[in-house]
Amino acid sequence: MNTVTRPRILVVGAGFAGVECVRRLERKLSPDEADVTLVTPFAYQLYLPLLPQVASGVLTPQSIAVSLRRSKKYRTRIIPGGAIGVDLKAKVCVIRTITDRIVNEPYDYIVLAPGSITRTFDIPGLTEHAFGMKTLAEAAYIRDHVISQLDLADASQDPEERASRLQFVVVGGGYAGTETAACLQRLTHAAVKRYPRLDPGLIKWHLIDIAPKLMPELGEKLGSSAQEILRRRGIEISLGTSIAKAGPEEVTFTDGRVVPTRTLIWTAGVVASPLIATLGAETVKGRLAVAPEMNLPGNDGVFALGDSAAVPDLAKGDDSAMCPPTAQHALRQGRHVADNVIATLRGQAMKPYVHKDLGLVVDLGGTDAVSKPLGIELRGLPAQAVARGYHWSALRTNVAKTRVMTNWLLNAVAGDDFVRTGFQARKAARLKDFEYTDAYLTPEQVREHVEGTGRQE
Ligand SMILES: Cc1cc2nc3c(=O)[nH]c(=O)nc-3n(C[C@H](O)[C@H](O)[C@H](O)COP(=O)(O)OP(=O)(O)OC[C@H]3O[C@@H](n4cnc5c(N)ncnc54)[C@H](O)[C@@H]3O)c2cc1C
Repeated sequence: MNTVTRPRILVVGAGFAGVECVRRLERKLSPDEADVTLVTPFAYQLYLPLLPQVASGVLTPQSIAVSLRRSKKYRTRIIPGGAIGVDLKAKVCVIRTITDRIVNEPYDYIVLAPGSITRTFDIPGLTEHAFGMKTLAEAAYIRDHVISQLDLADASQDPEERASRLQFVVVGGGYAGTETAACLQRLTHAAVKRYPRLDPGLIKWHLIDIAPKLMPELGEKLGSSAQEILRRRGIEISLGTSIAKAGPEEVTFTDGRVVPTRTLIWTAGVVASPLIATLGAETVKGRLAVAPEMNLPGNDGVFALGDSAAVPDLAKGDDSAMCPPTAQHALRQGRHVADNVIATLRGQAMKPYVHKDLGLVVDLGGTDAVSKPLGIELRGLPAQAVARGYHWSALRTNVAKTRVMTNWLLNAVAGDDFVRTGFQARKAARLKDFEYTDAYLTPEQVREHVEGTGRQE
C-alpha cells in the first residue's frame, strides 16, 4: 500500500542535466511538497569535458568525479542502479540495481537525463576492438592501455610488434576526439624519454574524421590553428577518412591504408541512451522529441533533457534546430526543467527553454589551446586560461575545484607521471562492457515486466 501522499519526482541520470535538476528541486521545493528520487549507477557526477585529461594522467580520476553526497543539505533518495525501461502508461520505471536486482519504481513525474552513449556504425571489428571515451573507467583503462603499449614495445625484440604497439588511432575530430588525441600524444611524447630503448620516431598518433574539417564549430581560422598545432606536434590528421575494418593488431582506413596498431579510440559522435527507445515514443535521431518546455507532449509528468532529448533550440530561430549535445546546454536545461516540474506541480505555466551558445573551449594539453568564448577567437595561453577557467568554474563543488587546481599545478611543476595501475588488466574492454548498452529491455519487455509484477506502491 502506498503510504506516501506527496508527489513522487524521479530523476534518471546524475550527469550535468540530472544533478542540476535535483539540486534545484531540493532548493526550491519544501520537503512536504514532493519526494525526489535519483537513479544513478554511480555515486558521482562525472565532469566529462575533462575526461581526456584523466586519460593522459594530468588529472586523477577522482578529481572529476563530483560526489553526490557532499552536503548534508542533499535530501534526495538515491537508488544505486540504472533504469532499463520506462512504462509511460503505468508510470513505472524499471531499474536494475548495482546488485542486479530488478525493481519497479513508480513515479508521478519523471525527468529523463540518462545522457548518451558512443555512436557506432556497422564496421567490421569496430565494437570488438575500439575503446570509447565516455566513462571514467574508459579513460582510466585507456591510460593504462597506452602506457602498457610503451612497456610492451620496450620489452619486445620483434620490430613489427614494436611498430604496431607504438601507433595509435583516434577516430572523431570533434572536441572529444581532438582533445583525446592531443592529450594522449603529449603523454606518450613525454613518456618515451623514460624508455631509452624506444625510438621516439616510431610513436605515431593518427586523428581521422570522415568530415572535411576538425571541429567545424570553431570556424575556418581557429579550426586551421588547431589543426596546425596538432600537425606541428606530429599528429597525422586524415580528413574525409574513416575506418573500413578494425582488428586486434591493425586498422584499415577507408582510403585503403592499413595501420598496424593495438589502439583504436572511437569518439565519432554520440547517440541518446538506449533507455529512450524503451519508451516507444517519438524520437528525433534517437533523442526523445520533447516540447521547448522539455515535457513529452501527450504524457503528463514526463520530461527529458540533455544529450538524450531533442530539445528545440529556440535561440537559433530555426524551427528544425535542436540543441547540440553539450554540457553547456545540459546543465542549463537541468535548472530549467526543475522550474518547469515545480510549475506543473503548483499548477503554474511552464516556460520554454532558450539559451544562446556561449562558445567552445578546446584544451590541447600544455599551453596549446583554442577557444571561442562569445565569438572571440583565442589561441595559446589566453585560450588555455579561458578553457581551464571555464571548466574550473563549472565544477560543482569546492572540493572538486581544489582537486582539479591542485592536479593542474602539480602537473605544471612536476610534469607527467607514467604509472600503469593494472587495476583493469585482462578485463573485457569492449564498448558495451563499459557503457552497459545491452542492459536495456524492449518496450514489450517493459510492459510485460510491469504488468507481471504489478505496480509496487
Ligand atoms: C570526452 C568528452 C569531452 C566533452 N567536452 C565537452 C566540452 O568541452 N564542452 C561541452 O559543452 N560539452 C562537452 N562534452 C559533452 C558533454 O559532456 C555532454 O553533452 C553532457 O555530459 C550531457 O549531459 P547529460 O546530463 O545529458 O549527460 P551526462 O553528463 O552523460 O550524464 C548522464 C548520466 O546518466 C547516467 N546514466 C546513463 N544511463 C543511465 C540509466 N539507464 N539509468 C540511470 N542513469 C543513467 C550516466 O551514468 C551519467 O551519470 C564532452 C563529452 C565528452 C565525452
